[in-house]
Amino acid sequence: MPMRPIQMVDTLTQYHRIKSEIDNAISDVLESAAYINGKAVGEFAERLSSYLHVKHVIPCANGTDALQIAMMALDLKPGDEVITPSFTFISTAEVIALLRLKPVFADVDPKTFCIDPADVKKRVTPKTRAIIPVHLFGQAAAMQEILDIADQFNLFVIEDNAQAIGCDYLFPGGESRKTGTLGHIGTTSFYPSKNLGAFGDGGAVFTNDDMLAQKIRMIANHGQSRRYYHDIVGCNSRLDTIQAAILNIKLKYLENYIHARRTAADYYDERLKEIPEIQIPYRAPYCRHVFHQYTLILQYSKRDELQQYLAAQGIPSMIYYPVPCHRQKMFLSQNENTVSLPVTEQLAASVISLPIHSELDEEQLEYIVIHIKNFFKI
Ligand SMILES: *Cc1c(COP(=O)(O)O)cnc(C)c1O
Repeated sequence: MPMRPIQMVDTLTQYHRIKSEIDNAISDVLESAAYINGKAVGEFAERLSSYLHVKHVIPCANGTDALQIAMMALDLKPGDEVITPSFTFISTAEVIALLRLKPVFADVDPKTFCIDPADVKKRVTPKTRAIIPVHLFGQAAAMQEILDIADQFNLFVIEDNAQAIGCDYLFPGGESRKTGTLGHIGTTSFYPSKNLGAFGDGGAVFTNDDMLAQKIRMIANHGQSRRYYHDIVGCNSRLDTIQAAILNIKLKYLENYIHARRTAADYYDERLKEIPEIQIPYRAPYCRHVFHQYTLILQYSKRDELQQYLAAQGIPSMIYYPVPCHRQKMFLSQNENTVSLPVTEQLAASVISLPIHSELDEEQLEYIVIHIKNFFKI
């Protein structure tokens, strides 16, 4: 049998493995006619809350909405400052700006790629109200340090957990908890390529705080306290019943998916670590990396050459992220001469992500590794 084509993510093979379960679940929703807020939505929220050990899970339409709803729930005022990384997907900073708050970009740790607590601390001002760390590529930010800074300056912490669902964070005292449940609010996305992906858009907000949970529920539902009584300005953000039914099934397999991603990462690590020009992903001792991405740093600026070489062999790769948020046009006027983020700039110029997902087999992994070695003449 010829090798299956290699993809960055392979949601189709993943679907085929559980096709009858998924098809039945979708057809149950169609037959129920409860397309909005059907039974599967509440069931999914309950199952996810027990998986994460968090008191409240509020499903919503996507991960960007989840961030917006979380920020709206904190009653921040226009001009309030929110510290967040620049080396990440645009959503986090975009929503801050959308709500007329001020994104203050902090640099990242060169090893974990996550927000650097020491740099966060330097950027706290009397206007700072919140920190939004992103657990990038499936690895937790240094949460104990971030929570300490938040305590010291009385700040909120929202964790953007879109890339790290299932990641376990180990506190220095030995307690282990899921990322997304460590700060005041956590958010996630069920975009199809995420570790827990729907077959469409989806997202969720988590919290252990009863008051915040009530507010978040209202905001996601037109600020409604009871039907047709609207107490605050909210939005309309729901998880479709069909997506919830799909996620209910996929959640059962999430630990298997994480295991498969970690196994693929182990394979890459073992075979790529001997290449001197490559730095394999760092694994912070304080967490279980769930490898949403497998991201290398190239010592020399051979990145674009490697990418072209791999593409010619049928091996996709991606640059996450080529332009950091503070360099995006939408933020240029505000940051042009003021922001210095050397690690972020360096990473944007030197990282490359290899295919990683739950369906990579050893033949594919071997093929990828052999071609990377060929490129470096090893
Ligand atoms: C995917 C992602 C989002 C946005 O999720 P959507 O569901 O696409 O809106 C937000 N933050 C991070 C870090 C992401 O990776």
